[in-house]
Amino acid sequence: MDSLRYPAGVEPTLVARRLALVRARIAAAARRAGRAPEAVRLVAVSKTQPVEALVAAWQAGVTDFGENRVQEAQAKLPAARERGVAATWHLVGHLQSNKARDAVQLFDILQSVDSLRCAEAVARAARAPMRVLLEVNVAGEATKYGFPPGELPVAYRAAAAIPELRVEGLMTVAPQVPDPKAVRPLFRQLRRLAGELGLRECSMGMTDDFEVAIEEGATMVRIGRAIFGPRA
Ligand SMILES: *Cc1c(COP(=O)(O)O)cnc(C)c1O
Repeated sequence: MDSLRYPAGVEPTLVARRLALVRARIAAAARRAGRAPEAVRLVAVSKTQPVEALVAAWQAGVTDFGENRVQEAQAKLPAARERGVAATWHLVGHLQSNKARDAVQLFDILQSVDSLRCAEAVARAARAPMRVLLEVNVAGEATKYGFPPGELPVAYRAAAAIPELRVEGLMTVAPQVPDPKAVRPLFRQLRRLAGELGLRECSMGMTDDFEVAIEEGATMVRIGRAIFGPRA
């Protein structure tokens, strides 16, 4: 394939082609649910990808990028900015309290606030109100971070009372299952929880399940492999 011409392993037109396909699938899923395609924000998850891949995606119209590790972002974000990428940056992975200070400087929105301890660390580090989503462990998986749904109302009230935080919505990572339709009830539950709390944003859906998530009301989808290809 012609990607062999790019030593960094990034073929810009390939990223653009994959992106066009993802956008078409987002639009189709939104229309199936009677929603406007513009109601779904695409966050391109660029973890493990080289800066060249971010530049290619930015040039193809991506406005939002997600990274899952503060340390990786510390190297990549300044390099991407230097290359003209003026995106909105989302942290989508677990945040350790001792990284909160770096995180609030690097990112525009922290999607993975998964405990009150984390929320308080972000608040202490923030100089202006920080945009955050509360991560919910909808399936109750032992291996996953996030608030158990039952604890969410109390946690939300506590987080919403912190002036340094702007709680905009909820986020979840669904279990990986062979049939993405199997996670539909979990997405529906996240949307319902957000509605009950009066929260607008619902970040749910990844490469394997974003269409189901959009049908269930996702306002943000976090997509990596379908845009950038497999991770190294
Ligand atoms: C890696 C990651 C994604 C993107 O996953 P893909 O399956 O590559 O689309 C989305 N959300 C989080 C929290 C991630 O860590």
